[in-house]
Amino acid sequence: MFEATQAEEIARKAIEVLNLNSVTAGAKPTTSLHQRRSPLASPQYEIDTLNAIDLSHTPHNGDFATAIAHHGFESFQPSALEIFQINIGKLCNMTCRHCHVDAGPDRKENMDRETIDACLRALDQTTAHTVDITGGAPELNPHFRYLVDQCVVRGKQVIDRCNLTVLLLPTMQDLPEWFAERGVEVVCSLPHYRKLNTDTQRGDGTFEKSIEALKRLNAAGYGKGDPKRRLTLMSNPVGAFLAGNQSNMQQEWQTGLEKNYGVTFDRLIALNNMPISRFLEWLEQSNNLQGYMERLVNAFNPAPLMGSCVGTRCRSLGMGDCSIAILTKCWI
Ligand code: SF4
Repeated sequence: MFEATQAEEIARKAIEVLNLNSVTAGAKPTTSLHQRRSPLASPQYEIDTLNAIDLSHTPHNGDFATAIAHHGFESFQPSALEIFQINIGKLCNMTCRHCHVDAGPDRKENMDRETIDACLRALDQTTAHTVDITGGAPELNPHFRYLVDQCVVRGKQVIDRCNLTVLLLPTMQDLPEWFAERGVEVVCSLPHYRKLNTDTQRGDGTFEKSIEALKRLNAAGYGKGDPKRRLTLMSNPVGAFLAGNQSNMQQEWQTGLEKNYGVTFDRLIALNNMPISRFLEWLEQSNNLQGYMERLVNAFNPAPLMGSCVGTRCRSLGMGDCSIAILTKCWI
């Protein structure tokens, strides 16, 4: 325990040195709901806001249970656990407008070593083959590297959900090689392969930093077809619409990024935005909430439930181009 406390203290000081509040550390187009004491920082307020939306004119009155019953599913039956996802904190070097977890430099909630060890004990009792680590910016948790190493020792495939810009912070610059040595899959957020779209959502300068980080990952062997150095990009729409066709987008992005920046990656996941937290705030402020919720209900897609969806991961993790389409207010 002494070792863990000492490591935590050293890492805490290292984080202080990073001066995460500065724009240099990462773009900050907004502040957290928590910092502004917004009512939307309260989960119950979010639920009440969503439940107040009138969806009675949409299929099945916008009721998820009725929609799945219509397709022959009275309830969900859990299948074997394949992917063990751990959110290790809300601390982040950025404050993106659409953030679903209200992360930012002011959010000090970071999972402590004791809880991480409890997660590892829980992991040992499962059949999960993969551990998916997220945040905030998970790399900023003082115990991040310990957690990754413990998962690798256990023979697990590890995914790091990375915002890219964090890789440019002074104490994080060895991470691409560090990940490569351990075969960690890096799943990176990049809303768009065009600067304007990305910076609109994540703040000025984000695109440039993201391209630099992707180049460093490429230099470490990522994004070149090696299954031990898999580089996945995660795109989410910049606005109140749903993602397009994932395979078409992947082709377009691969061409655009390689031609313009010499950057390569292995696959793209097109993810839709959850109508929660700061994205919910934006939907309300831009008068898009009603329309967006109707869009979600109308896009209901039973394929993942029926096992006929090619993106099997969205059944276990909520990732994939159609996952959000099966969500309505009762799931929030
Ligand atoms: S969306 Fe990701 S990078 Fe942006 S503030 Fe939230 S956790 Fe940080």
